[in-house]
Amino acid sequence: SPYDGAPEECQIRPEKIGKSDWDDNIGYFINKKLHVWCRLRSGLWELGTIQSTSGDEAIVSLSDGNVIKVCRVELLPANPDVLEGVDDLMQLSYLNEPSVLYNLQSRYSQDVIYSKAGPVLIAINPFKDVQIYGDDFVTAYRQKLADKPHVYAIADSAYNEMIRDDVNQSIIISGESGAGKTETAKIAMQYLAALGGGSCGIEHAILQTSCILEAFGNAKTSRNDNASRFGKLIEIHFSTLGKICGAEIETFFLDKSRVARLEDGERSYHIFYQLCAGAPAMLKEKLKLKRASEYKYLNQSNCLAIDGVDDAEKFHMLMEALDIVRVSKKDQEHVFSMLAAVLWLGNISFQATENENHVEVLADEAITNAAMLMGCSSQDLMLALSIHEIHGANASIDKRLTLQQAIDARDAWAKFIYASLFDWLVEQINKSLAVGKCPSGRSISILDIYGFESFQKNSYEQMCINYANERLQQHFNRHLFKLEQEEYELEGIDWTKVDFEDNQECLNLFEKKPLGLLSLLDVESNFSKANDLTLAEKFKQHLNANSCFKAERGRAFSIRHHAGEVLYDTSGFLEKNRDPLPSVSIQLLSSCSCQLLQLFASKVVKQFQKPENTSCQINSLDPPKPSTGIRFKGQLFKLMHHLEGSRPHFIRCIKPNSKRLPGVYEVDLVLQQLRCCGILEVVRITRSGYPTRMTHQEFAGRYGFLLLGAGVPQDPLSLSIAVLKQFNVLPEMYQIGYTKVYLRTGQIASLEDKRKQV
Ligand code: ATP
Ligand code: MG
Repeated sequence: SPYDGAPEECQIRPEKIGKSDWDDNIGYFINKKLHVWCRLRSGLWELGTIQSTSGDEAIVSLSDGNVIKVCRVELLPANPDVLEGVDDLMQLSYLNEPSVLYNLQSRYSQDVIYSKAGPVLIAINPFKDVQIYGDDFVTAYRQKLADKPHVYAIADSAYNEMIRDDVNQSIIISGESGAGKTETAKIAMQYLAALGGGSCGIEHAILQTSCILEAFGNAKTSRNDNASRFGKLIEIHFSTLGKICGAEIETFFLDKSRVARLEDGERSYHIFYQLCAGAPAMLKEKLKLKRASEYKYLNQSNCLAIDGVDDAEKFHMLMEALDIVRVSKKDQEHVFSMLAAVLWLGNISFQATENENHVEVLADEAITNAAMLMGCSSQDLMLALSIHEIHGANASIDKRLTLQQAIDARDAWAKFIYASLFDWLVEQINKSLAVGKCPSGRSISILDIYGFESFQKNSYEQMCINYANERLQQHFNRHLFKLEQEEYELEGIDWTKVDFEDNQECLNLFEKKPLGLLSLLDVESNFSKANDLTLAEKFKQHLNANSCFKAERGRAFSIRHHAGEVLYDTSGFLEKNRDPLPSVSIQLLSSCSCQLLQLFASKVVKQFQKPENTSCQINSLDPPKPSTGIRFKGQLFKLMHHLEGSRPHFIRCIKPNSKRLPGVYEVDLVLQQLRCCGILEVVRITRSGYPTRMTHQEFAGRYGFLLLGAGVPQDPLSLSIAVLKQFNVLPEMYQIGYTKVYLRTGQIASLEDKRKQV
């Protein structure tokens, strides 16, 4: 038991201490000179003991030797030393923020990066190599020789439960940028590959997909040198014998804006730098490739290299990975020429015509190379980038673009090509991984998706990401509650529903029709006169009744998310939601001799096509294609449906400091993340149930001998009940199920104590 040897004081108030409980108990803490947490003016918590109290104030002697006078509300009970650094936060007698924070800190300082919060695994990024992975550890967890919290333990339970219960499983990883989600996902995949590999070698290909997806979907940002700019679900299929037989990847919401515009000090997608640095001479010649520093899309942010990363070497690893995943050499070449086309597009420049407002494309190597790579004539491409066709009732007229419009058109092309290429590549990978798909088998899915985001300035992307997180949070709540509920029902336990922070209201804010945020956004997006300000007005007009919405000044509005309030700015919302096509005719794309571009064009045409409308002509009068918001919502629903059909295992990654240094634990930063993902609530929910469970036999076997004398019952059930009665365990502190004894947190400690005294 976690309470082995715990002193008596840790039993007095096992449940969460409400304010009045704590007030009643301060005297006890004074008498026994027990540790308390004392909040200093700096906001930090320090251990101390209370010397005396008078009214609302207390005199506290701090562990650093200082004696201070503080308000009683600044004090919280601390856990006895014996509970320092427990594996599972559930074991803490006093569950409060400082106790949780310092428990995790004391573990982290010894390089123990994994802890449990009830059913959830907490992973704190070590920012250095910790020697807890590899074959020996896999074996140890496989053979149950290791029992400390670990990603391996989570992957192991997922695998075992899949086999034992014949139920699909999911491992859901969340956390903010740089917290370690992608690394954690890879660690879980490695474990599963070790367990389920061997039958057809497909696991090697599955592991290599990370390398490919990271090259195309990750980039250096200010927060992470290898930041994923897309969400990913990988579903690994197992045969009935538990062997890996295939996999399928789904990606979400790639941030394509990064292709054309970069913040200072950030990079575009890794693949561009890898290609420029590592392409063999022949390929370079073929693609007219130059150094990364020569391309405007790459050199605009004054950041071309990442410390400690060799892009050329990475390129070779990527080529190997593409081979292993069996993307053909021909397809690889297509991919590289599309990448080069994007880079050359970015170098295309414009000059003003005699009419100052309008532009012409400069005929230089950029246009020549881009056109060559795309398979069209320079002339056609130049025209497409400087003219906008307006379709009238009877005829079309060509309108010259302004400089800004021309730049936007060029960037839209580049973004369109890149995003299409990314999707196409994922499709190819999936085709290759689907080889051995076994219909009768089961699967384990691993989800690596962006965590909740709240910055100084929050835009459309944050709104989508946070909406996705609301959905996931609901899944999280429902699941944790459901699991408990099911077991209690099975065991015939009298159980009243535990309230938890329900986020349905916030989801309604987004999803309600016709007056939810996404619907309103779509209506406005279809309305050509709408702008960011009118959109904000519409929101305020229709969403105010929802308690999660808060009107702010001008273009701003706030949403009360489960993880905190976020202030959004509607600037750019409409444009991003409409996600307009390059203002160039799809015909040009389709007429390019590059097969990939033809394919991308045909996909767009399909998006426009309505079932009844087979002849498809694309111009500004046609109905718009589904908005980004609607597509995202659709994807999210599909994802949730998939997750609902599986048994989830949750991992919350925590970033311990923003400098990305090993050994540094910033209390405020950690606290904010624990709050965001509701870690304390999880522990509370789990604890308000009956976390200690022993079968009648186990319980009777362990404590039955404490009952002396005649008339001691013999059967385990009666013996268990007699023990509980004899030692005055309060009726509300335990329940007897059909097969198990259920005890609330902390109850076992006093029995253990009695046992020791004998
Ligand atoms: P983003 O949301 O930006 O994609 P992320 O949560 O996926 O972020 P990762 O890319 O997984 O974060 O981790 C960031 C960095 O932290 C890694 O590149 C690695 O240096 C370090 N890191 C993460 N987890 C571990 C680990 N278990 N052991 C060692 N280093 C780690
Ligand atoms: Mg990542």
